[in-house]
Amino acid sequence: MVTEAEVASQVREWFHGAWDPELSLIEWRERLVDSGWAVPSWSARWHGRDLPAWADRVAHQTIKDEGGVATPLGGGMGLAAPTIYDHGSDDVKARFLRPTLTGELLWCQLFSEPVAGSDLAGLKTTAVLDGEEWIVNGQKVWNTSAHHADYGILVARTDWDAVKHAGLSYFLVAMDQPGIEVRPIRQMNEHSSFNEVFLTDARIPMANMVGEPGEGWKVARGTLAHERRFGGRSSKTTRDDVSGRVISEARAEADEHNKTYVWYPQRQGRIDLLRPRAERMGRTDDAVVRQEMMKVTAFHRAAELTSERAKAARELGRPPGSEGSIGKLALSEIARACNATHSAIAGAQGMLSAHPEPGSDPDHATVAEVLISTPAQSIAGGTDEIQHNILGENILGLPKEPSVDRGVPFKDVGR
Ligand SMILES: Cc1cc2nc3c(=O)[nH]c(=O)nc-3n(C[C@H](O)[C@H](O)[C@H](O)COP(=O)(O)OP(=O)(O)OC[C@H]3O[C@@H](n4cnc5c(N)ncnc54)[C@H](O)[C@@H]3O)c2cc1C
Repeated sequence: MVTEAEVASQVREWFHGAWDPELSLIEWRERLVDSGWAVPSWSARWHGRDLPAWADRVAHQTIKDEGGVATPLGGGMGLAAPTIYDHGSDDVKARFLRPTLTGELLWCQLFSEPVAGSDLAGLKTTAVLDGEEWIVNGQKVWNTSAHHADYGILVARTDWDAVKHAGLSYFLVAMDQPGIEVRPIRQMNEHSSFNEVFLTDARIPMANMVGEPGEGWKVARGTLAHERRFGGRSSKTTRDDVSGRVISEARAEADEHNKTYVWYPQRQGRIDLLRPRAERMGRTDDAVVRQEMMKVTAFHRAAELTSERAKAARELGRPPGSEGSIGKLALSEIARACNATHSAIAGAQGMLSAHPEPGSDPDHATVAEVLISTPAQSIAGGTDEIQHNILGENILGLPKEPSVDRGVPFKDVGR
């Protein structure tokens, strides 16, 4: 069995033969994809090298450490590409994988609807087959990056006579068409990272379905499993001390991507700012502040270790346990505890605007953003209550939640 050190050494050797900083970013990534090191865990037939899952991380890190650029940041690599790889037909894989790995196609996720978030399978956006095309009508919401995506991964209802989960299908929809209107949503932290998306007779070629009609729920669950793993991505694609055309185009691409996610570190609570802020604001001898800082730090360390353990199990190919839900809940708890501790440190100043007076504490605006961004942590990717339900059923063996729509054709479900 190949070791991490052997993979890193093979990547280094390939990289030094292939790297040319004066290529365009796309040309460089074409080379990367052809080499099989873009996603080495995939099969050799689809741009990979049939290596274990951990090889992706080792290859990316090695390329970055050597001063190069790997695959793009964002939902294309995190959600669309692995779903297409797992469930797409050969035709869909052939048309969509390569341009996603090179960064030519940007993606968004069109799942949630105004009354179908936690209850995603209750969605009502409908696709009807008309000749060689599906015609789609409905509304999606909270769609991150939909304002600059080329394609969306979309779940829509294709059979209202089937029971709830069985009537859904999964599509790849071109965003640049007259039937799609994207309206940005302004958030309370002043950012605008997500959107409402209205679909009015939007068209999708038959060949852009992933899986078979009625398999949408199975495919969507695959995407959601990838989404839970996707949380810890880095915001950088290159080393700081390198230059060249590939590098500058990769930095511009990452800057554009990061504009959407600039507040994401704040939504996690910015535990790193607790101690420097407490020191600068003279709060380190306050007994309550000291207790709260240590409580959240201890919890954060324990959560990190749980997440490392889950990662190690995954890389050994073990089936996922409940660590995803536990990790998601831990992040919410940490964000809330950081929020409360930052408030205890800042006192009334924490309520001041995110545009502080010149000369005030350098992290004041960041902490003000923490205080209004942490609620998102316990909603995105499945709310705390939903994680509690999953853990209650999986770990405590509690009965399934009561439901009014089980076994009933979706069109007959009372609403
Ligand atoms: C930062 C961010 C980015 C997002 N990006 C995307 C995206 O790109 N694409 C996309 O499609 N969606 C996206 N979402 C939407 C996200 O998936 C939903 O917000 C989430 O699934 C919750 O759904 P909801 O907002 O409709 O809340 P609801 O489902 O309406 O929930 C409202 C409240 O009721 C509780 N609740 C609901 N059902 C139960 C139950 N059975 N038991 C107990 N309590 C319950 C919930 O916990 C919550 O407190 C994003 C959300 C956020 C915050």
